[in-house]
Amino acid sequence: MLAIGVDIGGTKIAAGVVDDDGRIIASTTRTTPATDPELIEAAVAAAVSELRQNHDVVGVGVGAAGFIDADRRTVVFAANLAWRDRPLADELERMVSLPVVVENDANAAGWGEFRFGAAKDADHMLMLTVGTGLGGAMVHDGRLLRGASGMAGEVAHVTAVPDGQWCGCGRRGCLEQYTAGTALVRTARKRASSSDPALGPLVQAAGGTAKGIDGPLITRLAQHGDPASIELIAEIGRHLGTGVASLAAVLDPGVIVVGGGVSAAGDLLLDPAREAYAANLTARAFRPIAPWTLASMGNEAGIVGAADLAR
Ligand SMILES: [Zn+2]
Repeated sequence: MLAIGVDIGGTKIAAGVVDDDGRIIASTTRTTPATDPELIEAAVAAAVSELRQNHDVVGVGVGAAGFIDADRRTVVFAANLAWRDRPLADELERMVSLPVVVENDANAAGWGEFRFGAAKDADHMLMLTVGTGLGGAMVHDGRLLRGASGMAGEVAHVTAVPDGQWCGCGRRGCLEQYTAGTALVRTARKRASSSDPALGPLVQAAGGTAKGIDGPLITRLAQHGDPASIELIAEIGRHLGTGVASLAAVLDPGVIVVGGGVSAAGDLLLDPAREAYAANLTARAFRPIAPWTLASMGNEAGIVGAADLAR
């Protein structure tokens, strides 16, 4: 059975026809018309129509950033895409005449990794998507944990530092503020602006200004052995490990999968995370310590996971 998976990102809509083994056998993309919900829906419908021309599909799964209701039909709130209580599944079904399910993008990617990727041999998984922000997905006993209203898995907004950095959610000290790409760049720029000599190589590589520093640059320098860049990524990893240790007290995951742009740093991120995780795990003498592993499907996880949910 073939299904179409759609990943609606802030800049790009990526869609693919996915087979039973989680392989993408055809794909297409559209630019995201960011401000207008109707234009986004039209772009998704156009991508679906294009893919359907040559493939017989049973349904469409859509991954979108934001809160999705428990029935997987309505985008309750999306910070970046101008959706407020938008009946996305209804609108798309009307346009493409196929069954449509909508899922949070991090959940869709997590489901892809759980079914076909890094956690395919596990029953209990916690996935963290460490990109610009922090996304989470939890699978318990082979099922995506969605909560009473579809909003479970928002690991970004558990409190990591009481009275810490302000967060876009309106609270302070959220885990996302210490573990995602924005945190990495903010800390680096702040230290560079205070003329911290350790940041010299990074500033130089950024063209001489703190403003030129971005996440991929920090990762690249860390991979070339720059101590300050290694430490910047390690700090993100330690916060991640400590935060996940708290979550593990509740969730008891079998494996922790890390994806997203910042995960390009590999073990430079994961080793400090593993260490902090083990050190902060409750009752750690009496429990197996879940392994941390990198996501294996990259950007395809969201498309494949969304399609599989539609099936
Ligand atoms: Zn928050």
